[in-house]
Amino acid sequence: MEYIKYIAEKLYDKFMSKGNSENGVSLDIMKLVEELGGVVYEAGYIKMNQNSMIVDPEDNSFKIYVSASEGIRRQKFTIAHEIGHYFIHYKGGDPEKPQTVYYRTSWAAGGSKEYEANIFAANLLMPEKEFKKIFNNCNEDLSIVADEFGVSIAAAEVRARSLGLIGNG
Ligand SMILES: [Zn+2]
Repeated sequence: MEYIKYIAEKLYDKFMSKGNSENGVSLDIMKLVEELGGVVYEAGYIKMNQNSMIVDPEDNSFKIYVSASEGIRRQKFTIAHEIGHYFIHYKGGDPEKPQTVYYRTSWAAGGSKEYEANIFAANLLMPEKEFKKIFNNCNEDLSIVADEFGVSIAAAEVRARSLGLIGNG
């Protein structure tokens, strides 16, 4: 998982250094999608865990479909997850395929690719260094941490746990 962390952090640093934060440490995911040549579509109805991405290998452009019923912060994580597939599984994948489609399935059903995309998303939206700093500065208040990074409290909590900042109890 170290290389996934590495590419996500590198992307974060490069992108944020150009002044592309929403504010502070929060990455502007829509701007990133635009810069990468992608478009996000909101679909009125998407089955649970069926968010998806379609990549056009002609020009490496992509479309990401998210559910309109998800909150904006949940959508942000979903989009980051799909960008993870783009970098890890598409760019590192088979360029001969005419069209590559990735579905977001449940963690258990999705296997290692889904897990890898989630690791990418967590590292892209909440890089370790920035996360620890904010977490300590706000007295470990996860709702403040979530606000700072523009993610859901649930995502911030999972992140804090994976970094060993809070226990598993
Ligand atoms: Zn996925």
